[in-house]
Amino acid sequence: MEFRVEDAIHWFTVVNDKIQENKENLTTLDQVIGDSDHGINMARGFQEVVNKLSTQEYEEVADVLNHVAMTLISKVGGASGPLFGTAFLKFSQAVKGINPVDYDSFTKGLEEALQGVKQRGKAKLGEKTMIDVWSPVVDVFQSEKGFEDNLFIEVAREAMENTKHIMATKGRAAYFKEKSIGHIDPGSASTYMIFEALAEVIKG
Ligand code: ADP
Ligand code: MG
Ligand code: MG
Repeated sequence: MEFRVEDAIHWFTVVNDKIQENKENLTTLDQVIGDSDHGINMARGFQEVVNKLSTQEYEEVADVLNHVAMTLISKVGGASGPLFGTAFLKFSQAVKGINPVDYDSFTKGLEEALQGVKQRGKAKLGEKTMIDVWSPVVDVFQSEKGFEDNLFIEVAREAMENTKHIMATKGRAAYFKEKSIGHIDPGSASTYMIFEALAEVIKG
């Protein structure tokens, strides 16, 4: 794998397309177990990311990731902005100086991103948060099978669906206690879209 600046730009362009298309869906998910703003938060953040992506020059993948991180942290008010922002900031730091990014470094970046989300949100696997999608995806990459038949995308989809069965113990959804069961976690749905976009970019 050779992941270059143009791939990173392509990745976040496709992420933004998916988020804009699914803005209402994400907000609907957040309506049931949150405050109805996840689609709005994500759409605002990634639109801003993409607006700036086209106007700047990047030397390496880490610079693109850093730009994404800083934009999400500064432009998205909800929990998801700082959390996704931290993920891409840690990812950026992990691949700094490596260009293009190879498979092992990409995997390391994902690992660091996951650790960053866990630390920032003080959450762990099984609490009905975006971690429930990030974590199994990192496992697949570590098993070196990430790109075989785009296995990671199937894993991400199942993991997102699986959040339905979990009772939330972190974030706003935790206020809903047992009532949070039966609904997909909004942040897990947007995390799935991020990986769905990655699969498309790598294929293309
Ligand atoms: P807010 O909850 O502030 O309105 P959003 O609606 O944009 O923010 O994002 C909610 C999503 O953020 C949740 O669906 C969940 O995936 C994620 N999330 C919330 N709290 C945490 C946490 N402590 N750790 C990890 N992810 C979290
Ligand atoms: Mg919300
Ligand atoms: Mg909110």
